[in-house]
Amino acid sequence: MAEHDIDLFVIGGGSGGVRAARIAASYGAKVMIAEEYRMGGTCVIRGCVPKKLFVIGSHVQQELEDAVGFGWTIPQASFDWSTLIANKDKEIARLEAAYTVNVEKSGARVVKARAVFEDAHTLRLATGETVKANHVLIATGGAPNHGAEIPGIEHVISSNEAFHLPELPRRVVIQGGGYIALEFAGIFSGFGSDVTVIYRGDNILRGFDEDVRAHVRAEMEKRGITILTRCTVTKVDRHGKEFTTHLSNGSSIASEQVMFAIGRHPNVANLGLEKAGVAINPKNGGIAVDGWSKTSVPHIYAIGDVTHRHNLTPVAIREGHAFADTVFGKRPARVDHATIPTAVFSQPEVGTVGLTETEARAQFGFVDIYEATFRPIKATMSGRDTRVLIKLVVDGASDRVLGCHIVGDAAAEIIQAVAIAVKMKATKADFDATIALHPTAAEELVTMRTPTARHVRQAAE
Ligand code: FAD
Ligand code: NDP
Repeated sequence: MAEHDIDLFVIGGGSGGVRAARIAASYGAKVMIAEEYRMGGTCVIRGCVPKKLFVIGSHVQQELEDAVGFGWTIPQASFDWSTLIANKDKEIARLEAAYTVNVEKSGARVVKARAVFEDAHTLRLATGETVKANHVLIATGGAPNHGAEIPGIEHVISSNEAFHLPELPRRVVIQGGGYIALEFAGIFSGFGSDVTVIYRGDNILRGFDEDVRAHVRAEMEKRGITILTRCTVTKVDRHGKEFTTHLSNGSSIASEQVMFAIGRHPNVANLGLEKAGVAINPKNGGIAVDGWSKTSVPHIYAIGDVTHRHNLTPVAIREGHAFADTVFGKRPARVDHATIPTAVFSQPEVGTVGLTETEARAQFGFVDIYEATFRPIKATMSGRDTRVLIKLVVDGASDRVLGCHIVGDAAAEIIQAVAIAVKMKATKADFDATIALHPTAAEELVTMRTPTARHVRQAAE
């Protein structure tokens, strides 16, 4: 068995691992990166990228419908699922190859194999090779939760399989009320499936601003998606190509696919963490790390979804970069996890940054809310029954904008820019001093003059 003496061994060729490997190699470190499945990781292979391609494709039907009001007569359009899948697969294969080449160009060595700890400095590859490394970075990401072992769970798919279905299901049942459930509800519905979302709580998107939750739900329902709350899936029966999903409220639904999108767990199992002495964070099941992404073992770091902090690609990338700067670049860098913008690519889209109204009211004595819901200009001609929501949460004492929440077309694009202002601690007066850009939906951000609500926190008894 060959023995290597390297500076850094990265476990996992996803968003975070790849960035860390490339940057560390650019500082002259001898780096090896192991990937057991496909280079690029969740985001590129079965997450953000194919998801966004599906979202774009599924939105076309709505564009065609809206075109009529603008004078277009479009012959009956048809859609071919297998073309979508084939073209998506081609693009993902291109990206996978680009990721591999770029890592190799940086000087790091890519190994296509699973890697596990033999001890705190030794990694064993599935090829049988063992490697000794001065530093190890765990960047193994996460995987879909399956939920309780209900009867028929083997018939249920996760987002992993949803990217490779042989045909578009005519009817789909999706359990979950978070990012993935709502994004796929929009995707399937846009392509023409009949979609039912099953959510265990009172309303979808727990943790988001209450007005956003209500608005998204109403808009999705207007687009024909059925959302059933306060119930769960208890059993799935198969009859040939069809399934019957039984719910805790006693009802049942027939469909061609049943998907669960009920959260993800960090990939920590069978990694040999105990042999290396790496501790798990008991609060979230991820690898325990400090502000530098250092684990309980000083030369072992962990970044991205495996730490279960903020499971987003740009966060994993930033953490990987900061790790490489700190350990190999002599430029200590900590990632600031405050005020991370995020979007749900549901239809309509949600873009959000900073505090929700509820969070702000719990933390600040005076909170002003500026909120507008309005019919977007396109809908005046398309006739579509839809409204946009734009909401600013402002600290009434300092005038600082604490949060911004948007539901509507291009919400994600808008919020990325707003996030810069919020991160810079811009005040409402700064927003107001900015001249509007007309006609846009985003101009509401700088034209809402009067608070729609003012909240003064009552002193504790
Ligand atoms: P990953 O990208 O998961 O990479 C980990 C890699 O490690 C994997 O390739 C895995 O095969 C490999 N691996 C695991 N164990 C081993 C081992 N022992 N040896 C070798 N290799 C191993 N985030 C966004 O910001 N925007 C989005 O729009 C978005 N959409 C998403 C849509 C879906 C359907 C999903 C599932 C996720 C989405 N995410 C999105 C989240 C995003 O994909 C993750 O936050 C991101 O990929 C995390 O990067 P990572 O490097 O931590 O892990
Ligand atoms: P989320 O945490 O977003 O949502 C999980 C949903 O499943 C919640 O509605 C939750 O309900 C529900 N749930 C959890 N456990 C159960 C259970 N046992 N039975 C029934 N329902 C359950 O996870 P996702 O799987 O949607 O996505 C995982 C993560 O991936 C996201 O949190 C995000 O970090 C990342 N991601 C980011 C995207 C983006 O940036 N656009 C897109 C996709 C994923 P409750 O609210 O009651 O807990």
